[in-house]
Amino acid sequence: MAGRKGETGRYDVVVIGAGPAGYVAAIRCAQLGMKTACIDDWRDEAGKPRLGGTCLNAGCIPSKALLESSELYQAVRNEFADHGIRVRGVSLDLATLQARKTSIVETLTDGIATLFQANGVEWLPGRGRLLEAGRVALTPHKGKARTLEAGHVILATGSRPISLDSAPVDGELILDSSGALALDTVPKRVAIIGAGVIGLELGSVWKRLGAEQMILFEAQTEFLPMVDASVRRVALREFERQGLDIRLGTRVTATRRVRGKVEVTWQHNGDAEKQSFDRLIVAVGRIPNSHDIAAPEARLLLDEWGYVHVNEHCETNIPGVHAIGDLVRGPMLAHKGAEEGIMVAERIAGHAAFVDYDLVPSVIYTHPEIAWIGRTEAELKNAGIAFRSGQFPFSANGRARAHGHPEGLIRVLADAETDRILGVHMIGDCVSELLSAAGVGMSLGASAEDIALTMFAHPTLSEAFHEAAMAVGGHAIHAVMKRGQGKAGA
Ligand code: FAD
Ligand code: NAD
Repeated sequence: MAGRKGETGRYDVVVIGAGPAGYVAAIRCAQLGMKTACIDDWRDEAGKPRLGGTCLNAGCIPSKALLESSELYQAVRNEFADHGIRVRGVSLDLATLQARKTSIVETLTDGIATLFQANGVEWLPGRGRLLEAGRVALTPHKGKARTLEAGHVILATGSRPISLDSAPVDGELILDSSGALALDTVPKRVAIIGAGVIGLELGSVWKRLGAEQMILFEAQTEFLPMVDASVRRVALREFERQGLDIRLGTRVTATRRVRGKVEVTWQHNGDAEKQSFDRLIVAVGRIPNSHDIAAPEARLLLDEWGYVHVNEHCETNIPGVHAIGDLVRGPMLAHKGAEEGIMVAERIAGHAAFVDYDLVPSVIYTHPEIAWIGRTEAELKNAGIAFRSGQFPFSANGRARAHGHPEGLIRVLADAETDRILGVHMIGDCVSELLSAAGVGMSLGASAEDIALTMFAHPTLSEAFHEAAMAVGGHAIHAVMKRGQGKAGA
């Protein structure tokens, strides 16, 4: 598609939202020769516009910075002595730890601005609103509102935390994930509503940094239901050992401020209890930012949960308007949104492109980490698909022993007939990095035997994936095979 650089107010593509879905879409559109503008509303605490959306400013990146720092802190205090390293006088400088996080965020968000400039994407700080196909209202942070003309519009306005009437966020005692990333003191007693991904990651951060009590109230009776049962069992045991007090089947019914604390009332098995906490973190999921992104006359179709309705190619009901990322169905993950952004840009340019929604990797960055791709055993059983499984524990892996982290396992599920890998489930040290090998294998249609016949470097954690794949065929070398491994199930 021919670019029209130089004209103002007319674009081939206008993207609304510069999170990982929107900024990636904008860059790829520009790479493909389209005149592209990206509108984004994000401002940091100082009021400065920042690219990168939730992920870079208040999600993936700051949370991983805090997870890394807190893990080092607890390792110095609890693990160094095992290595014969004696350290005295360890103390926490939370201001420096938080400043490091902010500096990482700023470096990366500045980096996107550089990428926009290098690729010729016009960054328009402000609010965007779809008026109709091909027309977008821009209310800039500075200057007058105006209307942009666009051949195509990509909606990528992301999501925000769900709020609870029983625990309204006040930014002081009751926090959402953004507030929980920005604490300037370590609270002694913390409660979290929701033992999902954010609850576990941020609960881990503040427990490692010194919170004495960390209770996670989870409404569901099953812990991490989306995770394979083999991994879930190990995870619950490890988290409880670390002092994360996970209360399943529990509902918070009321909160109130009492003398600088938050008093939380909850119900479990019909009994009501209450306790005061220094902070309460609400992490019960996120909802799409679909409110007021389009004028009513545009007739943009939403589904019953407020997601913009799209088909598998992220086309909305309005010709020339796409929607991607957290704003549409599917897991709320940065890489899922980014892949949708690339697909949409390529399709606008007339190229064939698709996203394989069966192969979206998931990671929970706790310690041990939890990582999976493809289907769980329960999903295969529900679908009536016969499979064989192979499992390998990190306790039998030399590198995991050398790291001092022998907890966890890798499990491979493969089709009983074709041996094609259908799911890989991991819990252990650094498994977020090991998962990519499984993803590459699965996207190339690998069988468990293909992985078994591949040579892995020794000693590495990835050998556990190799051994789990061998176990599917009943022949792991470094573990005594348990009954049922390598046998077909359904
Ligand atoms: P967003 O990143 O939400 O970006 C949307 C952008 O659009 C924002 O900048 C917003 O200001 C802007 N916007 C909204 N409305 C308008 C408008 N009308 N006009 C202009 N701009 C507008 N995912 C992972 O994959 N890995 C992780 O480790 C991970 N960790 C997370 C940790 C936390 C604490 C949180 C909260 C989330 C985490 N996520 C993680 C989820 C991830 O952040 C989201 O899936 C991802 O940011 C979604 O990208 P997006 O581009 O769809 O939307
Ligand atoms: P989540 O869906 O992972 O977990 C929310 C939990 O809260 C669920 O277990 C749910 O059962 C529970 N819950 C809901 N209502 C409740 C109530 N009233 N009382 C008690 N429990 C209740 O959502 P999240 O942790 O808020 O994360 C939001 C999104 O951000 C997720 O979709 C996730 O994909 C994304 N995210 C991803 C990562 C990552 O990839 N590592 C990290 C953080 C966030």
